[in-house]
Amino acid sequence: MFDALELKKQFPIFSNHPDLTYLDNAATMQKPRCVLDAERFFYENHNANVHRGAHRLASAATDAYEGARQIVANFINAPSHEEIIFTRGTTEAINLVANTWGSTLSAGDEIILSALEHHANIVPWQMLAQRTGAVLKIIQLDQYGTVDLEHFSSLLSDKTKLVAISHVSNAIGSIQPIAWMCNAAHHAGAKVLVDGAQAVAHLEIDVQALGIDFYVFSGHKAYAPTGIGVLWVENNTLQKMPPWQGGGEMIASVSFSGSTYAAAPYRFEAGTPAIAQAVGLGAALTWLSGLDRSALLAHEHQLRQQLETGLAQIAGITIHGQSPNKAALTSMTFTTAHPYDVAQFLDHRGIAVRVGHHCAQPLLHTLGISGTLRASFAAYNTSQDVEYFLAVLTDTLEILS
Ligand code: PMP
Repeated sequence: MFDALELKKQFPIFSNHPDLTYLDNAATMQKPRCVLDAERFFYENHNANVHRGAHRLASAATDAYEGARQIVANFINAPSHEEIIFTRGTTEAINLVANTWGSTLSAGDEIILSALEHHANIVPWQMLAQRTGAVLKIIQLDQYGTVDLEHFSSLLSDKTKLVAISHVSNAIGSIQPIAWMCNAAHHAGAKVLVDGAQAVAHLEIDVQALGIDFYVFSGHKAYAPTGIGVLWVENNTLQKMPPWQGGGEMIASVSFSGSTYAAAPYRFEAGTPAIAQAVGLGAALTWLSGLDRSALLAHEHQLRQQLETGLAQIAGITIHGQSPNKAALTSMTFTTAHPYDVAQFLDHRGIAVRVGHHCAQPLLHTLGISGTLRASFAAYNTSQDVEYFLAVLTDTLEILS
């Protein structure tokens, strides 16, 4: 039995806002005290710059930062911590791949995306296509809001160089069959980038078992601080990637006749990194690993089922994305009310949700809507949260209709 109520006590935000029902977890998650403590402990005890100092604090800071890299590697079952690159988040990680690995593409090469991608997994590829003459191909969705595998297969060819796909849709929650897609892409000779922003806090990730080439995620959507994210690259691909940003930390030597670059991952981490945030990420993933992950998954699944069963009993609600394989969020629209107005009423009663296009405008266009109201779950949500949401939503829709 997963005790969410007990676990919630570890999150200071809920003591500071006792009336808060936080259902905006897909936007960012709240942080457990151990993550906040880890950052504070770092600043109070180990703060120094990493890698280059000749003093004990610098070694302690480097150990803490590099320790976090190893924790990330273990968390996603990467073969080595040297394949983990710290970034500011998912967005920067995808831009890094587009600007380094992507610079090897030529006119006519194809990149396959899906119709459900977040703008972070669309715009960098559009910019790359403009620079190189590469062509974007878009996988359609099936009636459940999951990628249509037949259509995906029909798009694959020897021109395909990359498939860039969200593990879990942030707008409708569907989970994509990543292992199957990686296998098919590899048969066509293409690499696969998986946007794990909405997956990593919910599903257990094994990048090797899934057969992924690039995995990216943001710390703040997995109980960690903002300003830190991860790019994992399979080693053979990583070794061939040219650097991106130039500066300190990423070089082997510099002279006015030219520079040579450090080995990965340092080659991709120019400048002083987000040290305390990386330490916070390490603490968050350690905390998450300490939970019973399958019980957590079952808990979040139960909350979503409870929510969707309740929504089905209220007239005038459409749930978008009915995939049987769905993560911890539900997106909805209302026949008699605008999602934004509903969210304002919910906010007055202490419920935080997200409304809008969720940075997935092409998906919403495909669904024929301009925005939804999204309720998304994390480990500290309880069935009381869902009951309260359903009760307040019912009142709200009565008032607004
Ligand atoms: N991809 C997905 C699926 C997301 O949900 C998000 C965040 N909404 C991003 C990418 C971008 O993440 P970040 O803003 O942390 O870079």
